[in-house]
Amino acid sequence: SPDFCLQIITPTCNTTFSYIDEVNDRIRPLVLKLVTSPFFRFFKLNLDKQCKFWNAQHFCATRNCAVDILPTEQYNWSNVPTELLPSKLGEIHRGSKASDGSETCEDLDYCHIDDDHHCVFVDLPSNPERFTGYGGAQSFEVWKAIYSENCFPNTAPMTFAEGAEQDQCVEKNLFYRVISGLHASVAVHLSNEYLNPVTEQFEPNLKIFMERVGKFNDRLSNIYFNYALISQAIVKLGELAAVPEFIEMNTESKAGVELLENTHTTSAEYAEMLDTISLELSSEKLFDTHLLFDPKTVEPGLKEEFRSRFRNVSAIMDCVGCDRCRMWGKLQTIGYGTALKVLFELEDPTTQHLLKFRRIELVALFNTFDRLSKSISSINNFKKMYLKHLEEV
Ligand code: FAD
Repeated sequence: SPDFCLQIITPTCNTTFSYIDEVNDRIRPLVLKLVTSPFFRFFKLNLDKQCKFWNAQHFCATRNCAVDILPTEQYNWSNVPTELLPSKLGEIHRGSKASDGSETCEDLDYCHIDDDHHCVFVDLPSNPERFTGYGGAQSFEVWKAIYSENCFPNTAPMTFAEGAEQDQCVEKNLFYRVISGLHASVAVHLSNEYLNPVTEQFEPNLKIFMERVGKFNDRLSNIYFNYALISQAIVKLGELAAVPEFIEMNTESKAGVELLENTHTTSAEYAEMLDTISLELSSEKLFDTHLLFDPKTVEPGLKEEFRSRFRNVSAIMDCVGCDRCRMWGKLQTIGYGTALKVLFELEDPTTQHLLKFRRIELVALFNTFDRLSKSISSINNFKKMYLKHLEEV
């Protein structure tokens, strides 16, 4: 039911599915415009990084698994002074550095970010997340490894499949829902652009959608849960950091990159897009984080463990055997990692002064939001297809 209550953290009703549907309908065109703009469309990653957990082979060799990378001459940094390199320019700092040297900015990251000379740039809209054919035992093992990160000690182990008794601790429950929502969103995208073997076109496949997501209320709910979580992070980041100014600095400086040449978006346009999206998302508090990681109630070290386990999830992405799936998997784990950092560290007086955000984290955050936004509009499209199908039978 669309008016069904989406219970985010507490048993009280935070919002409804229909409210999120309405907000998403309003901002969908703008989100699409934002993620196709020069600042947000290019993503940097190392596609050849070794899987550090097992000896992973890249078996998915079909064209659909490939990623089109940008030619290296378009991002040749060799003539650029060190202080203008994107890794240096791309940082929003909050306050001063640690004085006691106890925790560094990297310690506060919830994900691994590729930043080495094997990195390549990709144009995200040219490499859509869709059906690739990657599956079987290989992808099953990767998902299993990802879910096993949810098994904190002293917890009844959460089995891979749902239906297992959920942990009473809200933080551990949140960890599970983020992963399950990511998994379900991937399944929505691959069902929405599923390869029709007859026409050889990518098109929505209702049967696949129902089998993977549509008939599981908890999977659907976890996609909406993630939408609320990322929304809250976008609102919070907008309140506390000067995102449009940061974009202006990075776009204007260019640092010798040819990537942005034929496409131009002014800083005023970025500011307007971001403000409008933030305003829509902040009109109701979708995700209340004030009860999470309360030092008075949680076991000591829980947040550090949560962070390190989520970092492991992001490292598992190097074990995904299909380039296209790996790329979107990395992007989304960085996106969730950034959202968790915003929500759990930005308001923490013990850590907020250490925080920094890089260009790639903003790119990942907003593209992850776009993935969820597209998932929700696809779910509503599948709902129409399903109702039509019921009328016909
Ligand atoms: P899987 O999706 O592999 O699921 C395995 C088991 O997990 C299921 O049997 C079920 O018990 C449980 N499960 C399933 N969904 C959920 C959920 N939401 N919450 C909790 N438990 C669940 N394929 C593509 O075609 N395109 C892609 O872009 C793509 N990206 C991927 C990215 C990553 C990081 C990974 C690991 C895989 C990706 N895949 C992609 C593969 C895809 O996710 C499936 O693994 C594959 O299609 C096989 O699906 P399946 O139905 O056998 O079950």
